[in-house]
Amino acid sequence: MAEVVHTPRVFSGIQPSGGLTLGNYLGALKRFGETQDRGDMPTIYCIVDMHAITVWQDPEKLNRATRELTAGFIASGIDPTKSILFNQSAVPGHAQLGWIFNCVARLGWMQRMTQFKDKAGKNSENVSLGLFAYPALMAADILVYHATHVPVGEDQKQHVELTRDIAIKFNNDYGTDFFPVPEPVIEGAATRVMSLRDGTKKMSKSDPSDMSRINLTDDADAIAKKIKKAKTDPEPLPETLEGLEGRPEARNLVNIYAALSGKTADEVVAEYAGQQFGTFKPALADLAVERLSPISSEMSRLMQDPAEIDRILAHGAEQANAIAEPIVRRAYQIVGMVGA
Ligand code: ATP
Ligand code: MG
Repeated sequence: MAEVVHTPRVFSGIQPSGGLTLGNYLGALKRFGETQDRGDMPTIYCIVDMHAITVWQDPEKLNRATRELTAGFIASGIDPTKSILFNQSAVPGHAQLGWIFNCVARLGWMQRMTQFKDKAGKNSENVSLGLFAYPALMAADILVYHATHVPVGEDQKQHVELTRDIAIKFNNDYGTDFFPVPEPVIEGAATRVMSLRDGTKKMSKSDPSDMSRINLTDDADAIAKKIKKAKTDPEPLPETLEGLEGRPEARNLVNIYAALSGKTADEVVAEYAGQQFGTFKPALADLAVERLSPISSEMSRLMQDPAEIDRILAHGAEQANAIAEPIVRRAYQIVGMVGA
């Protein structure tokens, strides 16, 4: 017997763990705006500051990064009158449901998470417990809104799958169908933008090398320089996409061009077949500047009025809380806890 009808709802988040990258834009932000504008489902977007502190953050920088990320959302097309836009720590339901999910998720599931292995590296005894538990909090982020669709980059697929497992196990353990089983939505030409220095590693805002990524706040010169220095191979661009097999760096630049231009990777390869990177890279740099500079100037304009950003976040938190609070209350009841 269904307790609730799970109406479609979109949730996704980004950590204020540094400045936004081209990977965040193509894999997440750009698609968040498109989803909002399609208007067929309510959209909830979150600055996940509680995830950011799984790795130590300078408090002042975290504050600034939270506002700057909010500006990045708005500059990329998220309209706070159409989407709910807020920061995670302002809505207590994330932490409350996160604890329940820490008790639902199994240690073995968490040990299989590749992001934890990547981020912890050889240092796994010394990273925070929060970094390990992160996917259970992410499940709470999604399920505290009963979200059904989660637009993310390829790197987050495993975490959304874990969220599905947590929803299913909670429902089974308590004999309910209270939580929906959400779908990852991974689409577009650049679902996994790679580092400009290493085509086997994803571009990340927390990568120590600034040359590995394009930041949304980079100016035209920085973008051109980074693309010019991006690692490639000596071969020209092939006639067809198959010719990019085993050439991860070249494939990455083609994917970026495709995502920025709205063409398919096949079309881009056909257009530049036989050309050298000496020709392709400047064309890519021009395209990137053309697409990113309006976003970057809008971000700096918005950052001049931090009080307005705070008002937007506070309003978004109120709207988010109105959805989350009754869901947490019901989850507590299902579990048999008297609180909330
Ligand atoms: P960090 O290095 O701190 O983890 P990040 O750059 O990976 O930062 P997140 O906040 O973890 O950014 O992820 C925000 C969203 O951006 C997620 O949906 C994620 O899948 C997407 N994303 C992150 N990096 C890329 C990338 N290189 N290509 C495509 N999507 C990406
Ligand atoms: Mg990440």
